[in-house]
Amino acid sequence: MLEDKINKIKSELDVINIKTYEDLELFKLNYLTKKSELSLLFNFIKEVSPELRKEIGFKINNLKNIAESIFETNKLLFEVNQTFSLNDSTLPSNGFNNGSKHPLSIIQNQIIEIFQKLGFSLSDGPEIEDDWHNFSALNFPENHPARDMQDTFFISEEHALRTHTSSVQVRIMESEKPPLRYIMPGRVYRNEAVSARANCFFHQVEGIYIDKNVSFADLKLVLFEFTKQMFNKDVKLRFRPSYFPFTEPSAEMDITCFICSGSGCNICKHSGWVEIMGCGMIDPSVLENNNIDSNKYSGYAFGMGIERIAMLKYQINDLRLFFDNDLRMLKQFS
Ligand SMILES: [Zn+2]
Repeated sequence: MLEDKINKIKSELDVINIKTYEDLELFKLNYLTKKSELSLLFNFIKEVSPELRKEIGFKINNLKNIAESIFETNKLLFEVNQTFSLNDSTLPSNGFNNGSKHPLSIIQNQIIEIFQKLGFSLSDGPEIEDDWHNFSALNFPENHPARDMQDTFFISEEHALRTHTSSVQVRIMESEKPPLRYIMPGRVYRNEAVSARANCFFHQVEGIYIDKNVSFADLKLVLFEFTKQMFNKDVKLRFRPSYFPFTEPSAEMDITCFICSGSGCNICKHSGWVEIMGCGMIDPSVLENNNIDSNKYSGYAFGMGIERIAMLKYQINDLRLFFDNDLRMLKQFS
């Protein structure tokens, strides 16, 4: 009699089909509430003979577990479906979040484009450099401060993260014969504390031209063309004598401040001039270091910081903003 009831409920559960939320409610009422047929079975256990009691109790318990599992599974399905039904296809779309180019990429691409129009080819080199390419071939003396751990990230006794893109000059000179006309953009590393004006890595573009009869006048002409196209103004150039181990003579190049047109402002610190890059004629001994006959060939080199140009062009006053990945900043360049 009790056995029949158990079998009846079991066969019902085997074919149960819950389609609506009402079905689910009804299922709960029929099988899981205290007064449901299934729960009432427990009341009959005490009438079963002691030797069968354990087995019957086990069967009823098992039935209850099956019913609970059916209920929980279907309840979960309804909850998931409800979430999906919120996807109303008639609602207006949220639109796409368009990405934007990083300001440093924009500036780097502009620089590359201008110099390519002026006949320069593009090249690059490794960011981990040996002493020869980063220092020795470029005339850095043994005791130069750049060779100090304080200024350079050394990886081993012989290798460091390159401190400038000038190392790529050496790689070009040793692998090709003049005429050579290249620009070399890339990331460089310095062991400096991070601040608004300094970072442990930044980006440079280096340029070289080596051929017969290359003069400082050629350098000035190319930089004048670049400056005009980069800053969209008829700017004036100023060359101040400077020193780099790998150029002789060397100069820092300033342009008339494009914000105040030379009358003085915060950007140019009221001098009317802003410093743009370093440049000079490649030191003959650097040419000789790379097996280029310095009696036959001469060349110029220049290098600028991409962050520096971007900060000037976009009037950004903190270097760290380029690397924070703050969308409020980056969105402005879309
Ligand atoms: Zn100014």
